[in-house]
Amino acid sequence: MNFSEFNFHPQVAAGVKAAGYSEPTPIQAEGIPAVMKGDDVMGLAQTGTGKTAAFALPILNRLMEGGRGSVRALVIAPTRELAEQIHLAIETLGAETRLRSMTIYGGVGINPQIQKLKRGVEIVVACPGRLLDHIGQGTIDLSRLEVLVLDEADMMFDMGFFPDIRKILARLPAKRQTLLFSATMPVEIRKLANDVLHHPVTIQV
Ligand code: AMP
Repeated sequence: MNFSEFNFHPQVAAGVKAAGYSEPTPIQAEGIPAVMKGDDVMGLAQTGTGKTAAFALPILNRLMEGGRGSVRALVIAPTRELAEQIHLAIETLGAETRLRSMTIYGGVGINPQIQKLKRGVEIVVACPGRLLDHIGQGTIDLSRLEVLVLDEADMMFDMGFFPDIRKILARLPAKRQTLLFSATMPVEIRKLANDVLHHPVTIQV
């Protein structure tokens, strides 16, 4: 299989080329068409499988059409390091798209985050706690959110983030596409998947 089969916008295809990817990994081959179709996805995959690009590429491609300046995609990840990695992948793959991504997490000043949000971004990669702070203070507007990604859901459960995740979910538009990635599928993840995914496509690699 070749990346050209996805018919990405030229600016997104340029990002694939710049990253040096020649062939989609299995989760990309299965996941990208499902995400591009607009389906909810349950992805059972470890890191190292190429799952970041499996959601980042179709999200970038989707955002090429439609308005700019509002948060249209939100990725929630358990740790700052993961949030930074995802943000970096989005910046690399999306370098030619002029779409803007930023990270939101605690332990650093909130004001620079507020300023960036004010200037306008289309993609936010966040850890749950600080994201809830922004929601509570009204410094992030998620009313135009189209796609939600919950990454490393099992790690987020283990770290005790599910109460925060539930609070965040309650504040998001109900009409959206949701992608859930987890390396394992314990009962808690199954429950969350049942609640947040509508007729999901399950991909296991
Ligand atoms: P991830 O599983 O998303 O953490 O990705 C693991 C690593 O694989 C990252 O360094 C990616 O840049 C790389 N990668 C992702 N997709 C591909 C691909 N199709 N071809 C080669 N490398 C890839």
